[in-house]
Amino acid sequence: MTKIIDLRSDTVSKPGEEMRRVMAEAEVGDDVFSDDPTVNRLEALAAERLGKEAAMFVPSGTMANLAAVLSHTRPGEEVVLGDRAHIFNMEAGGAARLGGLQMRVVRNLADGGLDPGEVAEVLRKETMHSPGTGLIALENTHNFKGGTAVPVASVDALGELARAHDVPLHMDGARIFNAQAALGVEAKRIAHACDSVSFCLSKGLGCPVGSLLCGSEEFIERARRYRKMLGGGMRQAGIIAAAGVYALENNVDRLAEDHANAALLAEGLGKHEAFRTNQPQTNIVMAEIVRGDAGDWMRKLKDAGVLAVMSGPQRMRLVTHINITRTDVELAVSRIDTILEGVAV
Ligand SMILES: *Cc1c(COP(=O)(O)O)cnc(C)c1O
Repeated sequence: MTKIIDLRSDTVSKPGEEMRRVMAEAEVGDDVFSDDPTVNRLEALAAERLGKEAAMFVPSGTMANLAAVLSHTRPGEEVVLGDRAHIFNMEAGGAARLGGLQMRVVRNLADGGLDPGEVAEVLRKETMHSPGTGLIALENTHNFKGGTAVPVASVDALGELARAHDVPLHMDGARIFNAQAALGVEAKRIAHACDSVSFCLSKGLGCPVGSLLCGSEEFIERARRYRKMLGGGMRQAGIIAAAGVYALENNVDRLAEDHANAALLAEGLGKHEAFRTNQPQTNIVMAEIVRGDAGDWMRKLKDAGVLAVMSGPQRMRLVTHINITRTDVELAVSRIDTILEGVAV
């Protein structure tokens, strides 16, 4: 039977034996009463790793971002963010629907960051006529831009601008530990200029579920009420939080392996004229299909046991993760080579 190599996303990663063991043995309580010792431990650990006063455990990255956006703003305000931001494109318009917020997009730069000059141009105060800016949001690493790690100096520059205008800055750090590995800079330093930062446990860190939102004590206190409102107040959540504690202690340093595997995969794809790939800084490979039909390519890959997703009309996304070994990547590349041998190009 053909071994399936699932590169659709790092969210497809499954918990290993050791992680499942700590989950089964987790001490639990009712987290809505703040009684779950394992959730409390995870929140303390996350706050420490991100260099913030407090943290809140939530079921998903989408909820972490939405709780952040709601906590920072008032309805009718404007959120300034990148045109390729996950919050703008992939979170079902929750900020608009549930927060009554207007999204104001500026161009995402090639590295996933935002140009401070362009952001400065759109910041505005509330007047009789115009909405005021309630929040600026960044993303690091940047998913759509190909897992790019936004440089610290660029985050700092936006932080300075945000402070000067008295506007809070949020970082969607779903994959911030990938940025840490790529930049060789601690996550807490990357997020230093941000008032809040979210990150996912369920992606490269290999947990079955969960995200965290980090910020000041006062901010997290407000966010807890929104979490409750959104239906994210969980009870014996220590069972899933235990996976998060395990992952923060064991699965962070190994992210560099995923990055090396992504580089190998991009190299393997890029040697064919059919594809133009990014040079992945982290675990996301974007392959522009320059020869042939994208749907056709996806089918051929699937038939060969290599799973990817579309990320644009002629663009495939392939993501490495904890369940993908170097051998798997070599196998995927050799299967792609075989497909191309049979195709007239
Ligand atoms: C995955 C992701 C999210 C949302 O996470 P979910 O847990 O899937 O809701 C947010 N931002 C970015 C950049 C992501 O890649």
